[in-house]
Amino acid sequence: MLPRTSVWIASIWLTMSVVQAKETPVITIAIHGGAGVIAREQLGPDGGQAYRDGLAAALDAGYAVLENGGSSLDAVSAAVRLLEDNPLFNAGRGAVLNHEGEAELDASIMDGRDLRAGAIAGVKHVRNPIDLARRVMEHSPHVLLHGSGAEEFALQQGYTLVPNDYFRTPARKAQLERILRGQAQPKNELAALGTVGAVAVDRAGNVAAATSTGGMADKRWSRIGDSPIIGAGTYADNASCAVSATGHGEFFMRKVVAYDVCAMMQYKGWSLERAAREVVQTKLKEFGGEGGIIAVDAKGNAALEFNSPGMFRGVRDSKGRREIAIYDK
Ligand code: ASP
Repeated sequence: MLPRTSVWIASIWLTMSVVQAKETPVITIAIHGGAGVIAREQLGPDGGQAYRDGLAAALDAGYAVLENGGSSLDAVSAAVRLLEDNPLFNAGRGAVLNHEGEAELDASIMDGRDLRAGAIAGVKHVRNPIDLARRVMEHSPHVLLHGSGAEEFALQQGYTLVPNDYFRTPARKAQLERILRGQAQPKNELAALGTVGAVAVDRAGNVAAATSTGGMADKRWSRIGDSPIIGAGTYADNASCAVSATGHGEFFMRKVVAYDVCAMMQYKGWSLERAAREVVQTKLKEFGGEGGIIAVDAKGNAALEFNSPGMFRGVRDSKGRREIAIYDK
């Protein structure tokens, strides 16, 4: 009798722990620091250790937010803010310079719980553009604010504006000079890469996405790329996934890349991995668009897909995965 009871108890315990294990939500964060042609010699003898360190710091900061029970929105904000502060990446301080030699910044953020979104474009004096994008989402009735109007909103929200010189590093000034002298193509410059982004899912199963950039080096006429365009550079919906893109914005905008990954999942019932692969490796590539995306779904799956030779990227989850990479292998 006794052994039978214990077998019975043991099987109940086993079933309960299997159910519990199944229900433990997976938290995941993925980040990128730009995609494109990343020549190994440009990374230096240490293989770009400074870039890897910058990515690792942002990845771990975002993950810590999730691990402490924070929201995916807070996690992507924290990760992107650190990358904006890192002068190596093309966002915030260290952003590429436009034709006139100024930094002109774009950013967007989206909450997958309720499809709230905020974005800013063409700002020149806001230290952390991703924070202002979030302000637009949370404290204005709008989605996208541009230029001086966005900065007026920032002032009303209590921001202290910074001089444009805060963003302009010696490396970016030298890069622009090379481009203007015809010694470099904006597209082929390592320093022209480095748009940053983050996507995450928290314990509650809410996804969020954020993207921030200086756009393209030597840009003119108040050019705006895909990064602040909801649906093109950034999208998040709990029903499918959260996406942040990087690459040649003119192509990403016309293919509405970030939304397309979510739509492929929803309409076709595909996995995140399959949808991301189809959009980046087939649809975008056939259209001539170079770059990549990072994405997570509500179950904690992540996809880091790119059709360029490299993409600065990182991913970490509660199942023990933690990776930082630049190239395919
Ligand atoms: N997508 C950005 C833009 O076109 C640039 C990049 O991701 O490298 O503004």
